[in-house]
Amino acid sequence: MTDDLQELFGKNRDWAAATEAREPGFFTRLLQQQTPQYLWIGCADSRVPANELVGLLPGELFVHRNVANLLVHSDLNALSVIQYAVDALQVRHIIVVGHSNCGGVRAAMENRRAGLVDNWLRHVQDVRDLHDGFLAGLHESLRVDALVELNVLEQARNVCRTTVVGDAWQRGQSVVVHGWVYGLHNGLLEDLQITATSLDDVGLAYDTGLAQLKQRWRQRQAQVVGV
Ligand SMILES: [Zn+2]
Repeated sequence: MTDDLQELFGKNRDWAAATEAREPGFFTRLLQQQTPQYLWIGCADSRVPANELVGLLPGELFVHRNVANLLVHSDLNALSVIQYAVDALQVRHIIVVGHSNCGGVRAAMENRRAGLVDNWLRHVQDVRDLHDGFLAGLHESLRVDALVELNVLEQARNVCRTTVVGDAWQRGQSVVVHGWVYGLHNGLLEDLQITATSLDDVGLAYDTGLAQLKQRWRQRQAQVVGV
């Protein structure tokens, strides 16, 4: 094995020992069960480590990550994660988390060719095209991060529209869907105020989230162009 990989095993042993020293019996307890309250749907980007940036330990956060944090209607991988999280683990919150300066969103915004992944990023381009009038009105330097937020909004709505979440709401199970964005520049999470708690909520949550998002970006636009 290369030295690089040996280093990872060394770090792993250190981490396991430190965790067990801090909390004796930690791993034995985790063997029995996992009871996460949250499902995190985030970008695969290495700079956005889900557990670490919200300070949660193993067992506390159920995680699904892909390029540009998408929830595609027919993605059996993501849908299976949601189904297990909602039906078996009974998570109370599903959080779609985008991040500033996302390479996938940038590639989609700028029609950059990167290979097979372009087909995946078509879903982000669909979001871009859905909001093309708004994005065109923004200064060029703002468009990628604005599309990051629009993408979170659309993917959060997609989560709400899954049969799994719809069925959970119908039987009275408490599941709240959220949209957040993470700032690579400051390490901080921001709540985009797209919060849905029932089927009846979805339309209003989307409209409210979209209106607030547009207002925020128009304010940033005013700062950039100095009006
Ligand atoms: Zn990303």
